[in-house]
Amino acid sequence: MAQIYDRVALIGLGLIASSMYWAIKRSGLAGEVVGYARTAETRATAREIGLCDRICETAAEAVQGADLVVLCVPVGAMGAVAAEISSALKPGATVTDVGSVKKAVIDAVGPHIPLGVNFIPAHPLAGTEHSGPRSGFAELFDNRWCLLVPTDGADAQATQKLRSLWEGMGANVDEMDAEHHDLVLAVTSHAPHLIAYTMVGVADDLRRVTDSEVIKYSAAGFRDFTRIAASDPTMWRDVFLNNKEATLEILGRFTEELFALQRAIRTGDGDHLHAYFTRTRAIRRGIVQAGQDTDAPDFGRAKAKG
Ligand code: NAP
Repeated sequence: MAQIYDRVALIGLGLIASSMYWAIKRSGLAGEVVGYARTAETRATAREIGLCDRICETAAEAVQGADLVVLCVPVGAMGAVAAEISSALKPGATVTDVGSVKKAVIDAVGPHIPLGVNFIPAHPLAGTEHSGPRSGFAELFDNRWCLLVPTDGADAQATQKLRSLWEGMGANVDEMDAEHHDLVLAVTSHAPHLIAYTMVGVADDLRRVTDSEVIKYSAAGFRDFTRIAASDPTMWRDVFLNNKEATLEILGRFTEELFALQRAIRTGDGDHLHAYFTRTRAIRRGIVQAGQDTDAPDFGRAKAKG
């Protein structure tokens, strides 16, 4: 595939940034990729494993001369990082991010984008429960969606270039407005994560009563919850604090449905339960048919990257 950018700067070097680096290299999408992370430890690890062509000591140094700057830090840190790099951005450059929430990031980053620099927020819908510079791999975005959320008046050519980069990294690209993005993600990702955290918390409380049985007999349902609940605490704290409205809206609906199911169990309304589970099973089939998950037994765990 042809080179799309001369120089890309990755700010923050965790799961998403390191996966981007390997995916960019896999297809030769950039001439040079420079990186920066706030701790000396992460910068040292990056140098040790050959993550990025060059690691810089400051964020401002990393973005100098870059055609594309990708903010790959937790949502709550985006604004401060944008302020740090603002005056070093190259005229005509594009700034993007990979944050899991869009409206709050646009509000935090937007004011720091100088005139003549494009800001095109994005969100790859791909991840694992692992984090840090060693956790990335080139295939993370393959056949996953990346949502672009161009702000009003975004440059069409710059948007097209960013789309080509994500496609080059293996993703399917769609465009969405920020508010819709945040609601969709509250349903598909944010609320499910909170429910998983809660379920694992409940089981942990129970464990004190039943000793180690929860772990010992951990069956598929609970194991899936524990995998999700192992996700990075900082990232997820920031997601909930920054997608408050949409998450609360979905959790309100969730609670209502939960009460309805609770009542069906109490009153022995098997028809209600059966109809409900039939509907939800169809959704799962739809996801598998859309190629967004595998139908393999054990949810494809044997093949999953560890
Ligand atoms: P990660 O593996 O935990 O890496 C986070 C990076 O951000 C690290 O390099 C860390 O630097 C840096 N960082 C943390 N706090 C910071 C702060 N206050 N100021 C400046 N830098 C800071 O995270 P990730 O999973 O790649 O997530 C990065 C972004 O992608 C987040 O906005 C997240 O919402 C989004 N995202 C994540 C997933 C997922 O499943 N993980 C999926 C899609 C999008 P040090 O290492 O030096 O501490």
